[in-house]
This record gives sequence, structure tokens and C-alpha cells, in this order.
Amino acid sequence: MQDFSRIQRTMGNRIGFVPTMGALHKGHLSLLKYAQQVSDVSVMSIFVNPTQFGPAEDFSKYPRPFDADCERAKSNGCQALFAPTPATMYPKDYVTYVNVRTITEPLCGAIRPGHFEGVTTIVLKLFNCVMPHIAIFGQKDAQQCIVIKRMVLDLNMDMHIAIAPTLRESDGVAMSSRNSYLTPLERSQAISLSKGLGMAQDLFCKGVVQTGELLTVITQQINQATELHIEYVEAVSTLSLEKTDIIAGPTLFACAVRTKTSGTRLIDNCIIGGSL
Ligand code: AMP
Repeated sequence: MQDFSRIQRTMGNRIGFVPTMGALHKGHLSLLKYAQQVSDVSVMSIFVNPTQFGPAEDFSKYPRPFDADCERAKSNGCQALFAPTPATMYPKDYVTYVNVRTITEPLCGAIRPGHFEGVTTIVLKLFNCVMPHIAIFGQKDAQQCIVIKRMVLDLNMDMHIAIAPTLRESDGVAMSSRNSYLTPLERSQAISLSKGLGMAQDLFCKGVVQTGELLTVITQQINQATELHIEYVEAVSTLSLEKTDIIAGPTLFACAVRTKTSGTRLIDNCIIGGSL
């Protein structure tokens, strides 16, 4: 991978990079398209990263349709696919981890201890392998975007992070590799996340700036879905990820639920009063 990237750099080509865990859907492909627009050569990685999954999470059952993914990546113009094995990335005696503090603690960090340490570690390792000029992440995983941006800034890394919008199904549900786990009833109720977030955006447009009021609307909407159990619904500053009562700058409204029958974790978010 590094040999390929060094050659590209020597030729003066800008490398655009899209890290993924595979089971590619149109959301992933939209990031690839973004990479193609802002670089000369687009690289995608597929790696289901064991260190970002908790012991009781879905690492072993995570979908891995590798051959179909290769086809999809290639037919969508991906010029290099990096798909290392866990043993390559984490050989015996591996002990080094990247710890971004404070902003990894709330939201998904509180529900999934150790998750972001796994994310920052693998993303830094992938960056060192692919040596991109620009890497593209989806706003779907907003906290991840904020954490990676912070890591790149704090560690003086010579690259740019771009954030692409969340791609949605026609009913508004955010595309996710995990949507394939959902029962038909869970899938029909998953719409309540985007619906609640949309209602909050509408209220903000009508002048409501108290986050409490908007959070109540989102929570009520999700609570109507009998198959969904709320993990969190929160409004935080996009900079500090601290809770905020009033929308005075870019505010992340983020929600996470677990479905009751298949036990699938779903997240969604919107930024009100600015962007990431
Ligand atoms: P994953 O394979 O789930 O780790 O996701 C790889 C990248 O794709 C991450 O940057 C995600 O934020 C992004 N992504 C996942 N779902 C979507 C979506 N629906 N729209 C846009 N980007 C997405």
C-alpha cells in the first residue's frame, strides 16, 4: 500500500481516501465519489476493525460480502482497495493505541467503552499506510468525524479531513450496513429517528432555540416506535461535545437506539445552527 502511495505522490497525484468496514452501500459510494472529485487517485479500505468492537458486540457477525464489495468499489471508480487482515494490522505483541480525550467520552463513547480508541488507532494506522492528502468521512458518524478531525489537528498530521452528508433511503432512514439486521417491523419503525430530527430542524426554523424543547420532540417521536429502545438523545456543541441548552452555534443533535428484537444499534444526527 505504501509503495503504491509513494509512487502516486512522486507523480504529483493527490490521494483521496475512504476508510470503510465494507458491506458497501450507496452511502460509502457517495464518499468515493466525493474522493474522486477532490483528488487524482481514490483509495478505499475495507477492514472490519476488531479493536473498535466491544466483547458483546457484532464483530463476528458483521457482514463481509468481500467479493461483491470489490466489484462495487471497482465499478464505482475506486483505483486501489486496501484490505489488510487483522493479523497484519494487529500482529502478536501489538500494544500501541491512540487516545483522544474528553470528546470521546459522551454519546457513543459512553455506551461503547473503548470504541473510539479502536477507531482512532485504526484510522491513524490506515492513514500511515495509505498516506492520503485528503480522507472523507460520513456525517452519519458525527462524533467519529469530530474525533478524527481533532486527532489530525492535535497530532499535526499533514492531511485534510472532509465530511460528506448522510445518504438516506427514500423514507429518510440513514443508510447503514447494519440495516440488514433489522426485522421488517424494526425497519419500518427506524424512520422515527430521521423523522424526529427533521421535526427538530423545522422547529428551529420557526425560531425555537431551546435544545430541551427540540430533544423532547425527538424523544417523543422515537418513543412511539415500540421496537426501539433509546440509548441517548442529546444536543451538544460540535466543538466540545458538551451539552448545550441553547442553540448559539453549530449544535449536534444525535440519537442512538437499540432495536428490541434483533438487538441492532442505529444512530442518526443532524447539525442545527451550522455545520461540522
Ligand atoms: P462504516 O463502513 O460503517 O465504518 O462506514 C465507513 C464510512 O462511511 C464512514 O465515514 C461512515 O460515516 C460513512 N457512512 C456510513 N453510512 C453512511 C451514509 N448513510 N451516508 C454517508 N456516509 C456514510
